[in-house]
Amino acid sequence: MRLSPRLTNLNGGGSDGWEVFYRARQMIAAGQSVIELTIGEHDVRTDPSILGAMDASARGGHTGYASVPGIPALRDAVAARVSAQSGVPTTRDNVLITPGGQAALFMTHHAACAEGARALFIDPYYATYPGTIRSVGAVPVPVAARAENGFLPRPEVIDAAAEGASSLLINSPNNPTGAVYDRATMEGIAAVCRDRDLWLISDEVYDTQVWEGAHLSPRALPGMSERVLVVGSMSKSHAMTGSRIGWIVGPAEAISNLIALSTVTTYGVPGFIQDAALFALGAGLEEQIAAPFRRRRALAREILGRQNTVGLIPSGGAMYLMLDIRATGMNGLAFAFALLEEEGIAVMPGESFGRAAAGHIRVAMTIEDKAFGAALERLCAYTARRAQAA
Ligand code: PMP
Repeated sequence: MRLSPRLTNLNGGGSDGWEVFYRARQMIAAGQSVIELTIGEHDVRTDPSILGAMDASARGGHTGYASVPGIPALRDAVAARVSAQSGVPTTRDNVLITPGGQAALFMTHHAACAEGARALFIDPYYATYPGTIRSVGAVPVPVAARAENGFLPRPEVIDAAAEGASSLLINSPNNPTGAVYDRATMEGIAAVCRDRDLWLISDEVYDTQVWEGAHLSPRALPGMSERVLVVGSMSKSHAMTGSRIGWIVGPAEAISNLIALSTVTTYGVPGFIQDAALFALGAGLEEQIAAPFRRRRALAREILGRQNTVGLIPSGGAMYLMLDIRATGMNGLAFAFALLEEEGIAVMPGESFGRAAAGHIRVAMTIEDKAFGAALERLCAYTARRAQAA
């Protein structure tokens, strides 16, 4: 039987960019020791207090179908969080609870893009973006943000690609680069969206992980709340990746239509997960969960500051570092494979996140401080040797 091209073309042909990751997993399965700096997942599990709330809810009977848009108390809590952050009045009618940020990315593109629409996104990008855009029948259009510009996108470059487009997807704090968009960049992006009548899909799943500057949601900018769809998640802020819970915040009309999409796809999120999320949002754990990454970033800056072969792209947030290894003359993929085979350290090649990150590697700061520091020292020494040999 033939499968629909919408499904079979999801990854756009070619490789999925995860070869180094798969190879590392193979080596680990074969008993080799590998230092894993590939995946964006905390080295702590979900806090026991959150699990307690989940358990109490499930045992209390919240195991049936839950309200499809989300339980009112959680929608209210998300609305309050977003209002406090952005200063824009936000109510439960502006909030849809989703099974994670990824589902929210899919649903927001469904909302913004008709069949065949051009959907812009910034390169380097989180690996699922192009496939998510294709999955709704839209055409992914990357817009490069250059390393030389700290991986901040330039509004005029977005504008030049915007003719006939329906949406723009941005992500600050950024995975994979760690860039946090400053106000001028965000205002420039907002102006392009207004001029070109674009939906702005703002992936803010790392909003609690900001090491320098402050998180600014474009929803807070003048005239933007009617065209911004915010994607949020508890995955990164509360170490709840496996619970699959996030949200969309946007205009009430968009949300009420998206509830219909939720009804025909996921039919909402389990009630006990929502109760756990509600508890978590009130528990004040964000700082504690972000703290290890803040520490490791400081450690990395110290280590990288002592050498000049590996370049650190100024990272203001998220749990990653983007490192420039072009001094070796290698591309990111070749470097990452060599580092894995020769040093047993697994990192993601920049090329996995788009062309703009070629010649770079992404390092996830997701192992314990001492081991992280030691791995980074070895990475620097290795890079220096390769650069000398180049
Ligand atoms: N956006 C970005 C930038 C991410 O890095 C991730 C997860 N790695 C997601 C969205 C999706 O997260 P989740 O579905 O777990 O909320």
